[in-house]
Amino acid sequence: MIKVANIFVNIPVKSIAKAYSYAIPDKFSFLQTGWRVFVPFGNRKVEGFIVNISAADATTDLLKLKEIIDIVDEEPWFTDKMLKIAKWMADFYLCSFAEAMRLFMPGKTGLQIKPVYLIGDQKPDATILQVNFYVEVYNFIMLHQPVSLYDLRKNFPEFDIDAIIALFLQHKFILKDYSVKKNTVNRYEKIVELIQSTFCETNFSRKPAQKNLLQLLQNRKSIPISELKAEKITMTTIQALVQANLIRINERRIYRDSYEHTASQGKKNVILTEEQETAVNELIKSIEQKENKTFLLYGITGSGKTQVYIEAANKVRQAGQHVIVLVPEIALTGQLVSSFKYYFKQDIIVLHSRLSISERNDAIRRIKQNEIGIVIGARSALFTPIDHIGLIILDEEQDASYKQDESPRYHTRDVAQALARIHKAILVLGSATPSVETFARAQNKEYTMLTLSKRIGNIPLPQVTTVDMRAELKQGNRNIISRDLKKLIEETIAKKEQVIIMLNRRGFSTFVMCRSCGHVIVCKDCTLPLVYHQNGKLQCHHCDSSDVVPDVCPKCGSRYIKYFGTGTERLEHELRTLVPTARIIRMDRDTTTKKFAHTEILTQFKQGLYDILLGTQMVAKGHDIPNVTAVGIISADSSLNVPDFRSAERCFALITQTAGRAGRGDIPGKVIIQTYNPEHYAVHCGMQQDYLAFYKNEIVFRKQLFYPPYSNLIKMTVQNADEQKALAEATEFVTLFRSSFKDINSSQIIGPAPAMISNLRGLYRINILIKTNQPAVVKKFMVEQKLHIKNNIMLDINPLNTM
Ligand code: ADP
Ligand code: ZN
Ligand code: ZN
Repeated sequence: MIKVANIFVNIPVKSIAKAYSYAIPDKFSFLQTGWRVFVPFGNRKVEGFIVNISAADATTDLLKLKEIIDIVDEEPWFTDKMLKIAKWMADFYLCSFAEAMRLFMPGKTGLQIKPVYLIGDQKPDATILQVNFYVEVYNFIMLHQPVSLYDLRKNFPEFDIDAIIALFLQHKFILKDYSVKKNTVNRYEKIVELIQSTFCETNFSRKPAQKNLLQLLQNRKSIPISELKAEKITMTTIQALVQANLIRINERRIYRDSYEHTASQGKKNVILTEEQETAVNELIKSIEQKENKTFLLYGITGSGKTQVYIEAANKVRQAGQHVIVLVPEIALTGQLVSSFKYYFKQDIIVLHSRLSISERNDAIRRIKQNEIGIVIGARSALFTPIDHIGLIILDEEQDASYKQDESPRYHTRDVAQALARIHKAILVLGSATPSVETFARAQNKEYTMLTLSKRIGNIPLPQVTTVDMRAELKQGNRNIISRDLKKLIEETIAKKEQVIIMLNRRGFSTFVMCRSCGHVIVCKDCTLPLVYHQNGKLQCHHCDSSDVVPDVCPKCGSRYIKYFGTGTERLEHELRTLVPTARIIRMDRDTTTKKFAHTEILTQFKQGLYDILLGTQMVAKGHDIPNVTAVGIISADSSLNVPDFRSAERCFALITQTAGRAGRGDIPGKVIIQTYNPEHYAVHCGMQQDYLAFYKNEIVFRKQLFYPPYSNLIKMTVQNADEQKALAEATEFVTLFRSSFKDINSSQIIGPAPAMISNLRGLYRINILIKTNQPAVVKKFMVEQKLHIKNNIMLDINPLNTM
């Protein structure tokens, strides 16, 4: 009987997004679902993933069926659960199955991880040593370790290698390890270890070097030979003891781990606050009952959310299950890593995109070996082979970096939820400023709300004031820094306390504003801010109408129109002039290109080497520096002028987060918000750090305009080198959609209109936005139109950015 494998080829081309059938040759009869193999495709040899296997039947055209050429690994790469999550993603995001499966591979393609075998702790016993072929295989491994299965099969074609390996592994005569091919070599070090735990000291009275080594080994089970040189212990000494059968030389794998030296940081015997305890108890109840449930841990800044995560993780580890902790940007989250390290030590692995491929492979290998209980990482940490997941934590769940902005355009929250469902795990979403969608779900009891309403130690929230920059200009100050902020900086530095200044760059290049009156040029039809383009044109990205930049403000006649904001460098320069004594460190895209630059900057600032930390949104993220007592927010409201329905939400969250950096120690903090829009509810509620008030305002507007959480969004971008063709294709779809979905209470379509980046690499880009409360029906319709496999169309399900 011929077996047929259905295989997705690993090629990122949408139009071949289906499985192809290949015959399984006899020598690979062991293949199962989840294996990676090489197959002929056209006249190429490509990698493919087996998604299922069946017997050939009458309909199979055996003559046309090509054969699998080779295997990539020596065991399946995908578990059933990994395949399930990939399938879910393909269905939900209308991407190809292969695209989703690629996420599970570090470096995405071509990587080979294969098992290798090393000599183990147990010596084979006499019965084994009587059997010739056991001895041969054992000796071969000893001589050539690490040895691959392939090498063993090649050398002993007449033996049943699989059975021998299984027996050896079972008795720990050998160990299994994983070796990674492709730009990376495993590193091993030679170590010495004791064979017998005691020795007779008098035997060594005239051999001080040998005695010294034995004594060192009494304290530490094993010591790398490289370290012994520093102890002046020579190879001769080591060999003598090996000969005497007292010690042996062995090999040990060295791991690359950039976080190896991250200091663990924490407090002993923390007594939970009442609110923390309530939250932890709720979580523990669900963990014990192995419920699949989603929680929102809504806790203001400084309320001790991390400790709640740690207690829950601890419970899950005690139950023998695994934990995934997701953070938006790991480089800015050294603190969470430190806290987890303090409690969980070596049980943690930290994954993020700035790790080298080798580091990531080492990490994945340790996960496969079941050596790791907790994975901390950015969104890609969802795609590791970690199994038996009991808890997934998503810290700062509202953060935009949880959305992947290339295909598949998944949101970490959605995938985490699907993964939690598959594993019957609990999901904890944590935030001081939850996304409006998440908060609405918690209000509807879809999620369970856990609240931390007080700061630890009842430290008061910082005292926040706003400065109206229009008044500042009228009174003759044309600087970026207001007089109040300058004064606050000087006072703070004089007290030897520290300042954070955040410059909101978001949206700045996109709108035109008057500095005298704060007026922003908007579309006459949609009242949304017009977007400034390099050619001097202003364009509406919703209805496609356009305008030119005026010379004077249409509202107040001032010539201070055309304000596009400032960069961090100019701000730094101004600060140095205004406050010459201050020691300033800048954190923005330019100063953080190097591998651990973020951490370095934050560490130096924390150590007090600088008075002012100045930077973009990055400085707002979750660090905890007790000596920071003042925070300045420049152009807090610029994000309000981005023509996107989430701009108020982003503005509010940014103000709250940044303000939350102030006064986390014993001294209450002071915050100054510089704005042109002090009346706007996002600024006003941000100033009061009142999430609930913000939410109440925002949700009304979302309902009126049929935006999430009242609808689901689907964004479609049509690309074409010919602008008219792109527009025609988009228009045709809009017409078709309107005639198919007539009930505007359940589905609406906006556009076509040029995308924010209206021309990319010679392609014109036209957007369409669908709002619907029947997302499954709309998606099915789009699939029927074959939009998901057209190479010139990009689909974004639940886009974060509608432009
Ligand atoms: P959040 O993430 O909610 O902003 P953190 O988790 O950073 O807050 O906690 C703020 C500070 O309070 C940290 O320094 C943390 O170590 C400390 N902390 C948390 N819980 C307790 C507790 N129960 N007792 C004492 N200190 C605590
Ligand atoms: Zn318009
Ligand atoms: Zn004006």
